[in-house]
Amino acid sequence: MYPAVVDASTWNSVPIRLENVLPRAGVPAKLPPDSRTAGAGRPLFEDHMTYIITQPCIDTKDASCVDVCPVDCIYEGEDQYYIHPEECIDCGACVPECPVEAIFPDDEVPETWNEFIAKNYLYFDVPAP
Ligand code: SF4
Ligand code: SF4
Repeated sequence: MYPAVVDASTWNSVPIRLENVLPRAGVPAKLPPDSRTAGAGRPLFEDHMTYIITQPCIDTKDASCVDVCPVDCIYEGEDQYYIHPEECIDCGACVPECPVEAIFPDDEVPETWNEFIAKNYLYFDVPAP
């Protein structure tokens, strides 16, 4: 089982990507950030993607997402929170916690907020794909 990602009530209402979560059932609830990469900043999983925090987080920043992230990969910036693209395990648990719907999978970010993809990568000094 994947113990601490979401509670049972969340499974029915959240767009969690089961295909991403279930193969990683052996992943502990909390992982040290270094264990998420395979060295030289390369993603551990070949199909790796990330989630992106967008404009509505600015001026909100209530950190609701931080508490549910199983790998502690959501970091506070000056104007908004950011998700580390190499530490995120794509579980989707943070999405329903955001009161302003600011979090999207990187391939579903609304076009008007596309700039936040590059902003997110730049914050961690990680090359954008
Ligand atoms: S999708 Fe990424 S940032 Fe969101 S809770 Fe899961 S691991 Fe954390
Ligand atoms: S829950 Fe939403 S608004 Fe709050 S810090 Fe996370 S992304 Fe920002």
